[in-house]
Amino acid sequence: MISIFDLFKIGMGPSSSHTVGPMRAALTFITKARDAGYLQKTLKAQIDLYGSLALTGKGHGTDIAVILGFLGEAPDTVDPDQVPATLADIRASKKLRLADTLEIPFIETTDLLFHKTENLPYHPNGMRFSLFDAVGECLFTEVYYSIGGGFIVNDEDVQSQTLSEEVNVPYPFSTASQLLHHCKANHLSISDVMRANELALQRFPDLDTAVLNIWHVMRQCIERGCREFGILPGGLKVKRRAHQIMQKLIEREHSGFNKDEMQWLNVYALAVNEENAANGRVVTAPTNGAAGIIPAVLNYYINFTPNPTDQGIVDFMLTATAIGILFKEGASISAAEMGCQGEVGVACSMAAGALCAVWGGTPEQVENAAEMGIEHNLGLTCDPIGGLVQIPCIERNTMGSVQAVNCAKLALMGDGTHIVSLDDAIKAMKATGIDMQAKYRETAMGGLAIAVSQPEC
Ligand code: SF4
Repeated sequence: MISIFDLFKIGMGPSSSHTVGPMRAALTFITKARDAGYLQKTLKAQIDLYGSLALTGKGHGTDIAVILGFLGEAPDTVDPDQVPATLADIRASKKLRLADTLEIPFIETTDLLFHKTENLPYHPNGMRFSLFDAVGECLFTEVYYSIGGGFIVNDEDVQSQTLSEEVNVPYPFSTASQLLHHCKANHLSISDVMRANELALQRFPDLDTAVLNIWHVMRQCIERGCREFGILPGGLKVKRRAHQIMQKLIEREHSGFNKDEMQWLNVYALAVNEENAANGRVVTAPTNGAAGIIPAVLNYYINFTPNPTDQGIVDFMLTATAIGILFKEGASISAAEMGCQGEVGVACSMAAGALCAVWGGTPEQVENAAEMGIEHNLGLTCDPIGGLVQIPCIERNTMGSVQAVNCAKLALMGDGTHIVSLDDAIKAMKATGIDMQAKYRETAMGGLAIAVSQPEC
C-alpha cells in the first residue's frame, strides 16, 4: 500500500523522475557499497544514464542529482543553496568524495555518460552505477530505474517483482470502485479510508502533524516563489512571474478592486514551479513537473474558503493521496511512460477530488471531480523546450490548478452519477500513454521542444 509520504516527498527541483529519483538511487547504491566495504578499494566510479534520463538529463539536472547522491546527499536534506558551490568544487578539483568517506578522481566527461540512443529493458529512465578498483576490475555494479514521482526500483526488485513491501491495511484498494465500496459499506469518507490505512502503515507516530509538515514545506515554497524574481537558470531566459503578478494584484486590491481568486491561484502555482525550475526545495506532488497544482489548490482552499481548518488541510492531502494511488496502481505517474497526462493530468485529478472533498462533496462527487480532472487532460504530451522543466511546464501548472477548481465546482453541482468512471479514465490514460510516440514522452524530441527555435542553453 502506497503511503501519503511516498507520494508527497520533500525534495529539490526540477524533476521527481530525473532529479529526486536518480539522487535517491545514487545514494542507495553508494550506501550499499560503503556498507559492503567496497569503497576502500574503489579508484573509479562510472555513471551511465539511459533513455529519457540521457535525453533530458542535462535540462532536468540528472547529472547533478547522481553526483550529489554519490556524495551521500539525500533529496530531502540537501541544501539547494549549497549545490552550485559543491559542484564547482568537484569540477575544479576533478575529485569526488564517495559517501563522505573516500575521495577518488572524477572527470564528468568520461565518468558520467549519457547514452541517448540506448534504453535499459524495464523503463525509459534507466541508470547503471559501477565502482572499479586500481586494476580496472568491477567491484560492484547495479542498475536502477526511476519510475516516476521519485519512486525507484533496482534490477533485483524488477526480477523478483517485489516492488513494495506487503503491509496489511484495513481498506486495501487499487481501483476507484474498490475505494468507493469501502466508503459506502463503512459510511466513511475517502479521507477516512486513507487515514485508517495510513495509521496501519505507522510511518509517523502523529499522522496529522506529519501531514501538516508537508503542507508547511509546500507553503514555504509558495512564499519563496512569491518573493524571488529575475531569470530562471538553464539558458532559456524565462522570467519569473509570480512575484510581479502578486505585486499587481496587491496594487489593484489597494485601489478598491475585489480579490481576483483565479489570479491568486495562478500566482501560487507559478511560485512553486518557478522554485522547482530554480532547483529549489519542493514537495513532489505527485511529481516535480506538476508540483504546483496541489499546493496552489490547497492554498486556494485556505485563502478563499470560509473557516478553513487544519483538519481540512489533512483531509485534502489524504483524499489527494487516495486518488494518486489509483493512478500509480492503474497506470503510471511517469512522463517518460505517459507524457504530461501522467504528471499535470494526475495532479489536476488529485487536486480536483481533494478540493471537492473539503468543500463537502460525497465520495461519489469526489470521484466525479477526479475523473473530470484527468478526462480533460487525456493525451497531454510532454515536450519541454531545451529539456528544461520550464516551458510549457510552469504555466501548465496554472492551467491544471484552474481546471481542478472548475472540476470540483462542477462535481458539486451534480449528484456524483456520471458516464465515464475514474477507473475507465485511468485505463484510457494508460492506453493513450502506451500509444504515444516516444518523442512526446519526456525526450524533448517532439512538439514544442522542436517547434520553437531555441537559444543556446
Ligand atoms: S511537459 Fe509536463 S510532464 Fe513534461 S516535464 Fe513539463 S510538466 Fe513534466
